[in-house]
Amino acid sequence: MAIADDDIERLRSTVSIVDVVAQFVALRKVGRNWVGLCPFHAEKTPSFNVREETGRYKCFGCDKSGDVFTFVQEHEHVDFVGAVEHLAAKAGITLTYTSTGQSRERARRKQLVDAMTTAVQWYHERLLQDPEARLARDYLRSRGLSGDVARAFLLGWAPDDWDALSTRSGIEPERLSATGLAFTNRRDRLQDALRGRVLFPIFNESGEAVAIGGRVLPGSTDPAKYKNSPETPIYAKSKTLYGLNWAKTDVVARGQAVVCEGYTDVIGFHRAGVTTAVATCGTAFTEDHVRLLKRYASRVVLAFDADAAGQGAAERFYEWERKHDMQVAVARLPGGMDPGELAQRDPAALAAAVEEAVPFLQFRLRRVFDGSPMRNPEDRVRVAERAMAVVREHPDHNVQRLYTGEVASQVGLTLGDLERVGRGRRQEQEAPELRRRRPPMENAEFAAIALLAQDWESIAEWLVEELFDDESHRRAFLALAAAEGDLEAAIAAADPAAREVLERAAVADLDIDAEAEARNLIAAAVRRQLARRVSTEEPERIRDDAEARVQLESLGPPISSTTAAEWLLAWLHRRMEHRSSGGIGRPSPSGA
Ligand SMILES: [Zn+2]
Repeated sequence: MAIADDDIERLRSTVSIVDVVAQFVALRKVGRNWVGLCPFHAEKTPSFNVREETGRYKCFGCDKSGDVFTFVQEHEHVDFVGAVEHLAAKAGITLTYTSTGQSRERARRKQLVDAMTTAVQWYHERLLQDPEARLARDYLRSRGLSGDVARAFLLGWAPDDWDALSTRSGIEPERLSATGLAFTNRRDRLQDALRGRVLFPIFNESGEAVAIGGRVLPGSTDPAKYKNSPETPIYAKSKTLYGLNWAKTDVVARGQAVVCEGYTDVIGFHRAGVTTAVATCGTAFTEDHVRLLKRYASRVVLAFDADAAGQGAAERFYEWERKHDMQVAVARLPGGMDPGELAQRDPAALAAAVEEAVPFLQFRLRRVFDGSPMRNPEDRVRVAERAMAVVREHPDHNVQRLYTGEVASQVGLTLGDLERVGRGRRQEQEAPELRRRRPPMENAEFAAIALLAQDWESIAEWLVEELFDDESHRRAFLALAAAEGDLEAAIAAADPAAREVLERAAVADLDIDAEAEARNLIAAAVRRQLARRVSTEEPERIRDDAEARVQLESLGPPISSTTAAEWLLAWLHRRMEHRSSGGIGRPSPSGA
């Protein structure tokens, strides 16, 4: 142990555990205990108990327990020595270190952190007080970063001088160099590293100042828009996330962190009420960052253009998900705005984007669908190919299968056909005889009719006429339904176009999963109706459509989501009342 045992015991007896916990948790006295909401798990009724006599805490909800040191360790995410130092600083106790090597290293670290802290404070005062900082203040205000924000995030301003910090802050020259705040120029004089910039101080996760990022002001001739502290003994870029010191408690409580790219993005998120935002400091988001975040949460929401990170990005994200058991989701920011801009214009939309973040694969699929019109069969096949290429990047076969179902319902192809998309092409070139045996690519509506014609029981209960968009498919379905599955009777009764469909359906080569096809058909029909966007002011109708979107999300697989399927079939019926109902198994809803 690096700290003398005497010091630790002295601390234990001087520091009140109730006082320490009360800084973070509202405590109420109940009998001999103090009780409050547990800071380590989300709860609505208090089960976190603290007792002064024993100096210990215990949560009856999540079972966490310990003394004042473990509390600080867990809450501040520091090691034991860090917790002791934290408490000693607050109690005004000077610690004695027993191992000299370690003590020297720690002492040196502390010197540099102190120097950086002094610089941050000095620059902060310049921003708030210096008459010449007016331009900087105006600029920050124009970005929505006024006085209270500047104070909360300790923003600063570096005067446009060669050596203002070096000569006026009182920091020792050697420490100015060691922290990268200044460097020795060709005339052998100490020169400030940052000048004429607004400054964003960077803290490590324990809240120690370790670096500074600076942005030029508009109109500057300096070509480097951003300039950051170099790597130093107290600052490693790839292991530092801007904002983690402010965000970490909420990151733990919510189980997720929002990752963005810029200092102003983080501040924007905080102002929009999303207090879990952090940013990389002028580098890409790397595995080191994932490791760092994994200590606090197991889900990250990327709030930057993750797709633009290139083809390799997908591979990396899936790899991290597997290796670190870390879920990677993506927030879609409207209009391609960055979080900082959006926070200023529409903070609610920024918060909503985080709430509605989707898994990376789903995010990429939506990109494919949104960017591609599907006006004709050729379009659909093209979209199907692009979508399946995205799906196949995922290393997990089961995940692939589930998303293939989603693609099927969007493009209206069967799962079997989709499996062959892209891959099938190669096969067909190699083996033309195989191609002749396979039926031509048919759509999901036809597949459902074929299934109904050949294996009535497997799908009948899920089919209603509202699911069929194509007129001859719809009439073929109605003929088959009226004949209760008797194919010959249906063919005899059908009109020519419907008869042609039924005759093909009778001999189609089926290799499909009935439940999945039914689900896809329902989803496709619901999406079609939702996309019609009839403008309406009726609150009933708007609520009803919103509910349909929710039900659509919970529509399997597995089809244990029958309630969703039933609900959606009823909804379709309500929305398409003008048509006479032609359901088979499922009764038409009465409350339309
Ligand atoms: Zn708890």
